[in-house]
Amino acid sequence: MLDCAIIGGGPAGLTAGLYTTRGGLENVVMFEKGMPGGQITQSSEIENYPGVTGDITGMDLMMPWPEQCQKFGLKHDMAEVSRISKEGDVFTITKSDATTVQAHSVIVCTGSSPRRAGFKGEDEFFGKGVSTCATCDGFFYKGKEVAVIGGGDTALEEALYLAKICAKVYLIHRRDTFRAAPNTVKRVKENEKIELVLNSVPEEVYGDASGVNGIKVKNKEGNIKDIVVPGVFTFVGNDVNNQTLIQEDGTFLCDVNEQGQVIVDLSMKTSVAGLYAAGDMRIEAPKQVVSAAGDGAVAALSAISYVDELLH
Ligand code: FAD
Ligand code: NAP
Repeated sequence: MLDCAIIGGGPAGLTAGLYTTRGGLENVVMFEKGMPGGQITQSSEIENYPGVTGDITGMDLMMPWPEQCQKFGLKHDMAEVSRISKEGDVFTITKSDATTVQAHSVIVCTGSSPRRAGFKGEDEFFGKGVSTCATCDGFFYKGKEVAVIGGGDTALEEALYLAKICAKVYLIHRRDTFRAAPNTVKRVKENEKIELVLNSVPEEVYGDASGVNGIKVKNKEGNIKDIVVPGVFTFVGNDVNNQTLIQEDGTFLCDVNEQGQVIVDLSMKTSVAGLYAAGDMRIEAPKQVVSAAGDGAVAALSAISYVDELLH
């Protein structure tokens, strides 16, 4: 029986792993389906994590985190969790290969995933010219023109990154004001390689067997603009990864709000004793690495007290 099972190995899960093991919990496993690090490893730059002053990528930032946790005894099981359930005081973690592990407490930190924008051709050409990761795919378009969709921090930061590699970036946004931080908006507007295509929504990405040939966008007046590009990057927000909390009867293990975000208090406690949620998946998450890490620490301290009380 584990003292604590941590589901997800992004900034929240890794910090929960550091604090639970260093704080004295004996048997702690972090279930992470891929390489630890989380979604920030897809970011080409991070400049708002305290203490980081150089020009570093999200991957650079996260690289040492797993090693630091392992030093204090955190184990990593590279497995996808399909369900977390609870009977009496015991949690059961069911993995996607149907094997199970039991735990006294669970910290769920499964984060969020990129949302699809929903235009014609998006699914058909996904991975063949349509991408949600500039760091992964930007290099394929070196010296070429690309389109970016979205008006938040991710879209604008990744447009700036792509402008360093590509000949030109069309930034397509459905309004004429942005959600991104003012300083980022300023940098985008000053960048000569970025052309703003505002008040416009994507209608269709088109192409052939070798990939994308272009994107058609419709403006407020209903006029269609054909932008001939081989690459289209969509950054239109994220959906919460709460699937592990869905029970056999379709209900959630703990309370969630209408967007599926887990309802927690300031100690990261959910409505179920011994179950904690941290990071991007919780209500009112600022969706930052620093706050996800902070949540992970808070959840770990709560889990330590809970297990201590349960067993002594
Ligand atoms: P995540 O990072 O999403 O990690 C969740 C982990 O859980 C993933 O590794 C996933 O593989 C794993 N997982 C999910 N489901 C399962 C399952 N069923 N079983 C096992 N494992 C599972 N924030 C900043 O502060 N500064 C920035 O500059 C910044 N830039 C960003 C740029 C981009 C392109 C993106 C996408 C995000 C950026 N963010 C930035 C936001 C930041 O990355 C997130 O707020 C942060 O990563 C959230 O951490 P988390 O641990 O809650 O979740
Ligand atoms: P976001 O802030 O939700 O922005 C999504 C953007 O996509 C919005 O501009 C939205 O338009 C647009 N959009 C949504 N659905 C669309 C659709 N179907 N078609 C076309 N456009 C669509 O998402 P994000 O930029 O990924 O950021 C997520 C969170 O992470 C935010 O809290 C952000 O601050 C944070 N983050 C922070 C940093 C940083 O601190 N440096 C970097 C990256 C991300 P509208 O504006 O019209 O709604």
